[in-house]
Amino acid sequence: MSEVLSPEAKIPKVGFVSLGCPKALTDSELILTQLSAEGYQTSKTFEGADLVIVNTCGFIDDAVRESLDTIGEALAGNGRVIVTGCLGARAGEGGGNLVREMHPSVLAVTGPHATQEVMDAVHANLPKPHDPFVDLVPAAGVKLTPKHYAYLKISEGCNHRCTFCIIPSMRGDLVSRPIGDVLKEAHALFESGVKELLVISQDTSAYGVDVKYRTGFWDGKPVKTRMLELVQTLGDIAAPYGAWVRLHYVYPYPSVDEVIPLMATGKVLPYLDVPFQHSHPDVLRRMKRPASGERNLERIQRWRETCPEIVIRSTFIAGFPGETEDEFAHLLDFMREAQIDRAGCFAYSAVDGAAANDIPGMLPLELREERRARFMAVAEEVSAARLQRRVGANMQVLVDAAPGLGRKGGVGRSYADAPEIDGTVKLLPPEKISKTLKVGEFTRARIVGTQGHDLVALPV
Ligand code: SF4
Repeated sequence: MSEVLSPEAKIPKVGFVSLGCPKALTDSELILTQLSAEGYQTSKTFEGADLVIVNTCGFIDDAVRESLDTIGEALAGNGRVIVTGCLGARAGEGGGNLVREMHPSVLAVTGPHATQEVMDAVHANLPKPHDPFVDLVPAAGVKLTPKHYAYLKISEGCNHRCTFCIIPSMRGDLVSRPIGDVLKEAHALFESGVKELLVISQDTSAYGVDVKYRTGFWDGKPVKTRMLELVQTLGDIAAPYGAWVRLHYVYPYPSVDEVIPLMATGKVLPYLDVPFQHSHPDVLRRMKRPASGERNLERIQRWRETCPEIVIRSTFIAGFPGETEDEFAHLLDFMREAQIDRAGCFAYSAVDGAAANDIPGMLPLELREERRARFMAVAEEVSAARLQRRVGANMQVLVDAAPGLGRKGGVGRSYADAPEIDGTVKLLPPEKISKTLKVGEFTRARIVGTQGHDLVALPV
C-alpha cells in the first residue's frame, strides 16, 4: 500500500540565507517573492529544506570569508546548495569561479541580481509544485525587513570606477529601473503598511543617466527617470500614508541641490547619506571618486542654509595609499567644519582586484588603524554635540519595538536615524496611562537626554 502524503508534505521547501548589504537584501526579496509566487515554501533549517540558496557578499575579505563559511555550513547541513550574489561573480586564484573552486559540489552559482538564473537553477533541481499559491503573495512581494520599513532599489550597477571598489566589475554599469516600475513598487509598499521607504542604489544621484532621463509613466502622467522627479513623486505617493522617504547613496553633484528644498518642505526626510570617503582633493582624485572636483564644504553649508534641519550621514576611509599627514589633517578639519551628524570610518584595507592596490604608498596597518581611531574621536565629538542640541525638542518617532504596548517603553527612530546604521530613540514608559506605543506607528516624543549615539525621549 502506498503511503498517503498530506498536501503540505508534497510542497517543496527551500532554505534561504541572505548575507550582505541592503542591495543584496532586495535581491533576496525578489527571489523569495518569486519562490513564493510559484508555490515553494521556505524552511527555517538546512535539514528541513529540499535545497538551500545562499545569497553571498563579496565586498571585503571578512564578508568573503563569512559567505564561504555559510556555503560550507549549508553543504554540511543539507548538501544541495545554490549560490547567488556578489561572491558568485568573483574569480578564484585558479582563474575559474571562486565559489566553485572552494566548494565544487554546489549545484549552481550566479552573480548578483540574477533572479531568473536562480529560479532556473531551482527548477532544474527541485521541480515546481503543481498548485502555485499565487494569490497568497502580497502585492508588495516578500520582504525581509520588518513590515513597517522597506528598501526600494532604483538601479543596479555603477558607472564610476573608484579605485578601492570592485562593485562595478561584479555588478556592471548603471542600469536604472523604469521609473513607472519603481513608483508602482513604492505605492504597493505603502499600501501594505510600510511607513518608511529607504531609497537605495550604488549612486542614487545618477538615476536615469543610462536611459538619458527617459520619460516614463505613473498614474497616467509622464515622469522623467531622474532623481528630482523620482523624489518629488515618491513624496507625493507617501503623503496620504503619512510615510517617510529616506535617500541613501547620494553624491554631492550640483543636481542634488534641487532636492534640498523638497527636504525643507517636508516632502522627503531632511536626511542625506552621502559617502564622501575623504575631503582632500588629491586623495579623492587617487580614489577616482564621483564629484571629486566639487567644493563639498561650501555645498554642505548651502544645503544647511536651505534646510537647517538636514542631517548628513557619511562614510570615510582613513589611510588610503599615499595619504600624507597633511591630507589626513585636511580630513579632520573637514569633519569639524562640515559637522557631519553621523560618520563611519574604515581603515583602508586592500580588496582583491581593486585598482588601488597598484597605487604606491601603502601605509602600515598600525598607522591606518591609528588614523581611523583619530578620525572617529573627532567624529564622535561632533556627533555628540549635534545630538545634544536636540534635547528639549519634540520629535516624530517611528516605533521599532514596544513590548506590552510600550507600557515599559520601547525603541524607535527619528528622521535623523536610518535603521541599522544610525542611532535610535530610546522611549521611556509614557507618563499618561492611556498612551500606548505600537510597532510601525509614529509617536511624538520629547527628547530628554542622550546616551552615546542614541537619544532618550518621553512619549507625549
Ligand atoms: S561609486 Fe565608487 S564606491 Fe560606489 S559602487 Fe561605484 S565604483 Fe564603487
